[in-house]
Amino acid sequence: MDTYTGKSIFKGIAIGKILFYQKGEQAVTRVKIQDAQAEIKRYEDATQQAIEQLNALYEKAVKEVGEVNAAVFEVHAMMLEDDDYMDSIRNMIETQQVNAEFAVATTGDNFSKMFADMEDEYFSARAADVKDISERVVNILSGKESGGSIGDEPVIIVADDLAPSETVQMDKDKLLAFVTRYGSSNSHTAILARTMNIPALIGVEISEEWNGKLAVVDGYTGSLYIEPNEETLAAMTAKQEEDRKARELLQKLKGKEDVTTDGRKIRLYANIGGVKDVANVLANDAAGIGLFRSEFLYLESEDYPNEEAQFQAYKTVAENMAGKKVVVRTLDIGADKQVDYFDLGHEENPALGYRAIRICLTRTEIFKTQLRALLRASAYGDIAIMYPMIISVKEVQQAKALVEEIKQELDEKGIAYGNVEQGIMIETPAAVMISEELAKEVDFFSIGTNDLTQYTLAIDRQNMKLDTFYDAHHPAVLRMIQMTIENGHKHGCWVGICGELGADMTLTKTFIEMGIDELSVSPSFVLPIRKIIREM
Ligand code: PEP
Ligand code: MG
Repeated sequence: MDTYTGKSIFKGIAIGKILFYQKGEQAVTRVKIQDAQAEIKRYEDATQQAIEQLNALYEKAVKEVGEVNAAVFEVHAMMLEDDDYMDSIRNMIETQQVNAEFAVATTGDNFSKMFADMEDEYFSARAADVKDISERVVNILSGKESGGSIGDEPVIIVADDLAPSETVQMDKDKLLAFVTRYGSSNSHTAILARTMNIPALIGVEISEEWNGKLAVVDGYTGSLYIEPNEETLAAMTAKQEEDRKARELLQKLKGKEDVTTDGRKIRLYANIGGVKDVANVLANDAAGIGLFRSEFLYLESEDYPNEEAQFQAYKTVAENMAGKKVVVRTLDIGADKQVDYFDLGHEENPALGYRAIRICLTRTEIFKTQLRALLRASAYGDIAIMYPMIISVKEVQQAKALVEEIKQELDEKGIAYGNVEQGIMIETPAAVMISEELAKEVDFFSIGTNDLTQYTLAIDRQNMKLDTFYDAHHPAVLRMIQMTIENGHKHGCWVGICGELGADMTLTKTFIEMGIDELSVSPSFVLPIRKIIREM
């Protein structure tokens, strides 16, 4: 038995034979042509055929993985007709008198490299898409089928990389798992794997010699066992069976309402740290996103992310959520989330220091850039803006005034924005105590129990030595939650919990009895909590 490890894209166990997947790729040769116009026509006809193929694939994918995930094929069709891409190919055929196959393959390589070099994770992940569409056109031009055929037996697919179109064309019933050498967790193929609920590993040193061998993929640990011994095989078979039973039960809850037996409807949302987490939200059927920790965009950058990069991220999330609510928390940097380029300096008590809204209201250019990106993105979905670490009414009024200022700017420029709800995190005892006044200013409250517990109990949430003193169910915290809910409701605010306590299943019933309107939890907790709500 040989053991390898990679990065897991989706949890689960797969046991089966390996199929080493060879791409339909073949070296494209450069051929001198006589009639450039005829060659351009041949290229344009092939593009039309490729678009028809992609439309058919889109229809297939809508049925299998839903509209949002199928959208990649619409994007591919659009990329094929991109002016820069088409002009580059036509130009190459005309000026270099080369065959269409060569012009398409070369342009595909050039564009793909250009995307791969981009720092933005989303754009660099598009390199595979450009390669994919170019290969499709080359295959049509040379009379070959595009990939996707995997035979009749269920298999674990091992490949260097997989394009989204190859993934979706594969017969789902025959797919046990994916193992690839390359690929990023933000690629559409990874998104599709998650949505299809197929265990997948990336970054594995694969070998062609594995073809036909028995293997086990453990998506929980990221392990791959080639020719597993009896003991491993037995353990993995048991784990797989356990997994299957648990999932089967929960899957039945997909598409079901989050409603108690006496008819109380709860908004069951999910927490995310970035664009790449949305697939998991959709796979777990959350009704919205209750906390998008936007500071991760800053933590992942070497410098302040500009308005355009932020706009793209928020817009992508809003579009993928297709009209469901997306609550974006504005920058919550400082304390344990330090970024060098903010140059925050040394503080004796960073958790009580210069952080979150305190930075935003004093370094307003940074804040305004984020608010502008958020408002612009709000034209593409139901975005709500949430302010962290609030302790006073004045802070909320200042933040709202900045939003008004930016709305005016956008109006003057004729830039569209949506009707955004504005809310605050309730994560300081001060906010709880003045929650009645705060409720008059905002549309919603979201209780950040992680910080609320630390500030209420005076227990540093980072200090492991204090674990035995840390009581997540402390009556002080529970009473504060109750008080926040009551005060919020007095003035028409909806009230949710987005801290970790929201996913504490021993408290779900208590929160609902207290009158909570929303619970926002890690995606994998959505279906287990739905189960509790529906049985209440
Ligand atoms: C919280 O404090 O409960 C919260 C959700 O915010 P974070 O964990 O990001 O501080
Ligand atoms: Mg917090």
